[in-house]
Amino acid sequence: MLPARDRVAGLPELKGLTVAQLEQVFLDLGQKKYRAQQVYDALYVHRIPDVHGMTTLPADLRALLHERFRTSSVELESLQHSEDGTKKFLFALHDGRVIESVLIPSEMVEADGKPRRRTLCISTQVGCNLGCTFCATATMKLARNLSAGEIIDQFLQAQLHSEQPITNVVFMGMGEPMNNYDNVMQATSILNDQRTLMVAPRRTTLSTAGVLPGIVRMADEGRIIKLALSLHATTQETRVKLMPIAKKWPLDQVLETLDYYYKKTRKSVTYEYIVFKGLNDTLDDARRLGRMARRLPTKVNLIPFHEIDFTHPTGFSAELKPASPERFQWFIDRLREEDVRVLVRSSSGLDIDAACGQLALSAS
Ligand code: SF4
Repeated sequence: MLPARDRVAGLPELKGLTVAQLEQVFLDLGQKKYRAQQVYDALYVHRIPDVHGMTTLPADLRALLHERFRTSSVELESLQHSEDGTKKFLFALHDGRVIESVLIPSEMVEADGKPRRRTLCISTQVGCNLGCTFCATATMKLARNLSAGEIIDQFLQAQLHSEQPITNVVFMGMGEPMNNYDNVMQATSILNDQRTLMVAPRRTTLSTAGVLPGIVRMADEGRIIKLALSLHATTQETRVKLMPIAKKWPLDQVLETLDYYYKKTRKSVTYEYIVFKGLNDTLDDARRLGRMARRLPTKVNLIPFHEIDFTHPTGFSAELKPASPERFQWFIDRLREEDVRVLVRSSSGLDIDAACGQLALSAS
């Protein structure tokens, strides 16, 4: 007999399926269609982790589902706690690969002392093939896309380890979400479903390095989740050095595509901007960034650079350094003079290598 983990590894997932897909599952099993809604509610409304706990189903159907499907798509391997309250989850996948998710409590605190916002940073791929020079995940290369079930299960498993409800989701962990568009959107449709009450669309953000066909698709499909763009540079020359994807989709095309996105959706866009010492932190950068930010309603998230020495960077990556705190503040002040709405992303989880750009593991 196979050990339990190996038996489960070969089975299809129940998580990540929509009601319509579950209906097909039950029809194929020779069961009534209405069972689909019961299982959907058990998974996402009541968040029952195991089919044996789904007592709205008859015992023989529970046994059949247990035999044919796996209810967990990711399994917690380890959980690290940062001094600032950030939690980093290491999840194992059915094929032995691993991914990370990060739960970040907001710095905004309610009267009872509890953080007002709890944001889960979710991975969408195992590794990434976009090769951003400042990013630890890039050193892993791309192993595969995550399924919709593996994306949703990061939320469900992380919620079990959060005393308070997770309020926000950002697709900003490992991987480029636009390169796994269908699975990300399928997971999002379940996460944002009013019936499941997992997370509201306006509290869900997809962050892209600039995969322009994905931005156009989001606009054309009228997606209501938020869009963030990893900008990180104000000239094509610098952006190419930081993000090789800029060779394929240059900065002027990125800006034109965002104009299109805004025209179609009337939704604002967030620019993510890591401040590197001597590279993108000059007065000219602040002025160019100001011009870009004023093209449409935007806010700029300024992010301190988190060094990734643990990945043993070489070449241009090894030259990247964070701007000093004084220079960082100077850059904020210049942007505010440019009428830019600036927010500063904190360095939550730095002590456990869970801060922005630091997620990296050796893929099995
Ligand atoms: S920053 Fe994002 S897109 Fe770039 S290599 Fe890292 S995970 Fe991929």
